[in-house]
Amino acid sequence: MRRSLPWLALSVLALAASGAEAQTYQRTLVPGRPFCVVWPGRDYLYRIDAAGSSRTPGDSELSAIEAAIASWRAVSDTCSDFTFTRGQDLVHPRVGYVKDSQDNENVLTFREVDCNDIVPPEDACIDEDTCANTYACWDHGAATIGLTTTTFSFRTGYILDADIELNASTNGRGFTFTTVDSPPCDGQVSSECVVTDIQNTLTHELGHVVGLDHVSVPGSTMEPTAPPGETHKRIIDAGSAQGFCDAYPRGLPPTQCGERPDLGRHFQAVSTGTGVGCGAAPGSLFPAAALLGALALGRRRERAGGRAGAAPRALRD
Ligand SMILES: [Zn+2]
Repeated sequence: MRRSLPWLALSVLALAASGAEAQTYQRTLVPGRPFCVVWPGRDYLYRIDAAGSSRTPGDSELSAIEAAIASWRAVSDTCSDFTFTRGQDLVHPRVGYVKDSQDNENVLTFREVDCNDIVPPEDACIDEDTCANTYACWDHGAATIGLTTTTFSFRTGYILDADIELNASTNGRGFTFTTVDSPPCDGQVSSECVVTDIQNTLTHELGHVVGLDHVSVPGSTMEPTAPPGETHKRIIDAGSAQGFCDAYPRGLPPTQCGERPDLGRHFQAVSTGTGVGCGAAPGSLFPAAALLGALALGRRRERAGGRAGAAPRALRD
């Protein structure tokens, strides 16, 4: 029987054991349990905020989103039957998961205002931790580019919901998202050069959606930081692709961590890190790179240092 006690969980790292051909990846573990978060089904039905982004030319942000999705589809085509399906766009989408609600969509939204700039200080949403949805505002760390909130069963690790927010807020707390391929901006921010690339960011966040955690491997799509001008995360690295393929083998149930002895691969919890994050310093073209984020105790005002990158949320059941 499921109880609706929500758990805000730490993201735990798991590393693929070394092997002659093993690629490095990490899957997100259920805190305190020897298994991972994973989708029980084979389709990620996502819905984009109908508001899109007001700061990118035309519908270029939608093209960037679809390009990121297409990269994961291409990986799936090599090894899996996992699909990504775009549903109808949503007006005022709600991030998070409410048990027994009919409104639990997997959403993707640009937060173009920071909650600090719009929420009255006495508003009850602050204590209730509901400001982000009430005001459609960014309610996470200022140095965080994007945040994926994943809700899963504490008993099984099965993912129930995964939502992506991008920090497009202004006033120096957010990021200037761009959609062009090149060149990196050089001192002058413009939509004609790369500042924070949407496709780069979303390819990474979608890695979290499918259950991958960060790795400290230069060049990996799942590296936790992204400097301005970066686009290489658009191309899913071999390790991240392997993590996906191992989790969702075509024609077979999703695998749990450690369930592929045939591949000579084992997983081991190596850290309960307080840090993960999909971050970089906002507002500057040359930030002091990164930010380790972590788990997201997703509480409002816990934004010192801009923590929080992936936010697994569990239902204890
Ligand atoms: Zn991340």
